[in-house]
Amino acid sequence: MEKILTEKITAKVPISKQEAKWLFEKASPSLLQELSQAVRRRYHKDSEATYLIMGIVNLTNICVARCDYCAFYKLPGENGGYLLPKETLYQRLKKIQQKGGTLVSLNSGFHPGLTIDRYAEIFEPFTVNFRI
Ligand code: SF4
Repeated sequence: MEKILTEKITAKVPISKQEAKWLFEKASPSLLQELSQAVRRRYHKDSEATYLIMGIVNLTNICVARCDYCAFYKLPGENGGYLLPKETLYQRLKKIQQKGGTLVSLNSGFHPGLTIDRYAEIFEPFTVNFRI
């Protein structure tokens, strides 16, 4: 499969869904790196790289999922739990934007009080900037 995919991708032949599935499930990191570099070279010189500035904001550490490996979460009512006030969240988003950031990731726990309506309220000031 490696040889077939390498030949197809090098020749700019579209791969099938099954081949994409194989890449996702079975390809080694080195094969993925090699193939992605081959595609990248179609669009950019080796000496060119692009990047974006991204910020990560931890909106809340309150979570009810209780993942075994997680040292981040606090249960509702537990000491140390927090939910950023909207103003603090907005300040952090503004700071990311001021540094040239164009992408934000919100890392959060499963806070039982953060319903979709609450999220909509929190992000309502930004909805005018949404584009489809
Ligand atoms: S914060 Fe994330 S990783 Fe931690 S318990 Fe909750 S869902 Fe799991």
